[in-house]
Amino acid sequence: MNIILLGPPGAGKGTQGDLLSDRTGHPQISTGDLLRKAVKEETDLGKRAKGFMDQGLLVPDEVIMGLIEEVLRSEKARDGVLMDGFPRTVAQAEAVDGFLAARSAAIDHVVSMEVDEEELVKRLLGRAAEEGRSDDNEIAIRQRLKVYREQTEPLVSCYSDRGVVRVIDAVGTVEEVAQRIGEATAK
Ligand code: AMP
Repeated sequence: MNIILLGPPGAGKGTQGDLLSDRTGHPQISTGDLLRKAVKEETDLGKRAKGFMDQGLLVPDEVIMGLIEEVLRSEKARDGVLMDGFPRTVAQAEAVDGFLAARSAAIDHVVSMEVDEEELVKRLLGRAAEEGRSDDNEIAIRQRLKVYREQTEPLVSCYSDRGVVRVIDAVGTVEEVAQRIGEATAK
């Protein structure tokens, strides 16, 4: 089963992605985590990505494709993958379609996690205090939300046309949200 967790920053994609990966046994692809690792290790890719990330902007598509190509082609992704925070642009979504089509697969579920904007800002500022992420300051947070609305949210309507979108109320306890996602992706 190939599942995309789609939602604004702070919607809980990482937390729910971990749980869903455990439940389904599918590997999780989190481009945000892969990028943070590359930045920490100061790889060439990490150095290219850091400036965009700190400003709350998207990292260019070709950098992202370089990052996930190997995972998408790998044997462990054969039965399905769980994509968290990826794809984020129409070009990335088209690339995913291409990889899946090559193995006669397709996206089964796009879980659209909905949380209102003020709650998101509150959550992200709370996380900034706890984790000290360099892109969790208020200016970068507002920018990331704007980028989400402009570049990533349009994917919901692209996928809606295929009948694979499952809209989830992502406000509640981790368990409550996990249950809603479990029910929506069980069919
Ligand atoms: P995340 O942890 O998923 O919110 O990602 C943190 C930051 O990494 C984002 O604000 C972007 O700068 C960058 N990023 C993560 N995933 C992608 C992606 N699929 N495409 C472009 N940029 C990304």
